[in-house]
Amino acid sequence: MALSVVDLYRDVLPKTNCRDCGFSTCMAFASMVVSEKYPLANCPHLDKETLNRCTVELEAQYAEGKWLKKDMAQDALKWAKEKAASTDIKDLPERIGGMLVEKNGDMHLELRYFNDAVLISKDGMVKKNGEALTRWEKVFLYNHVAQGGRRLPAGNWKGLVEFPNTVSKMKSMIAHVETPLIEKFRGHTRALLEKALAIGGQDIGDNIDSADVAVLFQPLPKVPVRLMFWDKATEEGIEAEVKLSFDETITEHLDIESIMFLSERIRQLLCEP
Ligand code: SF4
Repeated sequence: MALSVVDLYRDVLPKTNCRDCGFSTCMAFASMVVSEKYPLANCPHLDKETLNRCTVELEAQYAEGKWLKKDMAQDALKWAKEKAASTDIKDLPERIGGMLVEKNGDMHLELRYFNDAVLISKDGMVKKNGEALTRWEKVFLYNHVAQGGRRLPAGNWKGLVEFPNTVSKMKSMIAHVETPLIEKFRGHTRALLEKALAIGGQDIGDNIDSADVAVLFQPLPKVPVRLMFWDKATEEGIEAEVKLSFDETITEHLDIESIMFLSERIRQLLCEP
């Protein structure tokens, strides 16, 4: 018989909220066990017979996918891979940039990715420096492989909201990109510039006097991103502000979700220690 969160809480767990499992309540622990396969054995207050019986029941419902949290990254990766599957590696340098290299007898595309590169083959993709790509990075790159057009950047910059169908994304852009950047770098523009250069950005402050920091990122060969940051000016009562801009051709290379991913990735790289 399958065990729901309520069954587990009501009939199995001690309901003492002792926190020995690392969760603040037995209910929170039950939810993690049922929906995310968190090991039931992490509650040290169950007798062996109960643990064994429930583990058998849980394994059976996991196998059916019952009540399991949907693995969004896995689904998105499968979909993106299928979209990119009909692409011929040999056509990619002309379309999205990069160059063809041979590795272990197989043709790969070596594609710039921030200040490193990824190697893409018909069997998968890896970072050139040997670090692992997250599943969401793979989704992003497969989408680019499938969609990326031929056009070079035109040099005309636009904010996200100037592209079609982006109004609903502005809330995410503010919450997940702009606000964390402002909170981290308000009063620390030197640190922002240093971090931006360390992740492959180019200082373009000499060309853009109006911003305290102006950096050009080239995360993909045909996809530049510009970041401008204005620090707070307490005496004038001006709050800090940040803006990411994209070349007007970006929507030929990335869909809107991918532009959001790219923006959040830049924020993540800038904010991580
Ligand atoms: S260790 Fe067990 S009893 Fe304690 S809070 Fe976690 S689930 Fe509840």
